[in-house]
Amino acid sequence: MQVVKDKIVSIEYHLTDPAGVVLDSSRGREPLNYLHGAGNIIPGLESALTGKSVDDQLIVHIEPKLAYGEKNPAMVQAVPRAAFKGVDPITPGMQFQSQGPNGQVQVVTVLNVDDAEVTIDVNHPLAGVTLTFDVTVKAVRDATAEELEHGHVHGPGGHHH
Ligand code: ZN
Repeated sequence: MQVVKDKIVSIEYHLTDPAGVVLDSSRGREPLNYLHGAGNIIPGLESALTGKSVDDQLIVHIEPKLAYGEKNPAMVQAVPRAAFKGVDPITPGMQFQSQGPNGQVQVVTVLNVDDAEVTIDVNHPLAGVTLTFDVTVKAVRDATAEELEHGHVHGPGGHHH
């Protein structure tokens, strides 16, 4: 069975940045299951997997625009140090989770700290990064009507509700 729209696909993946640093990996864990063609995974990886079959292995390099986007300079901001009351010490490189404008979880990275202000970056941590995925297709099955309606996979490795 081929990877096409509306199939549930299981993949093993190993994700590295251009310096070879491992960013994420399913090795030693269960494969990732997702609904193909529903935007569950980044566009560059989804299109690279289209038409593949079980046991196919591929190595894909994905430009930021087909991954987590380019860095947006407007998302680097200086905020008063008082906004971080209770966080002591606050140092460059620290990361916090906060709620974005649409209620989504966003990662805030501290870039710089001085007496008055903290410079933060709310770009996705992988924005601007070219990603290399080493991916193997482990299984492909038809999605259920309910999965198609919800736009995501159910059961092991997926949503439970
Ligand atoms: Zn659901």
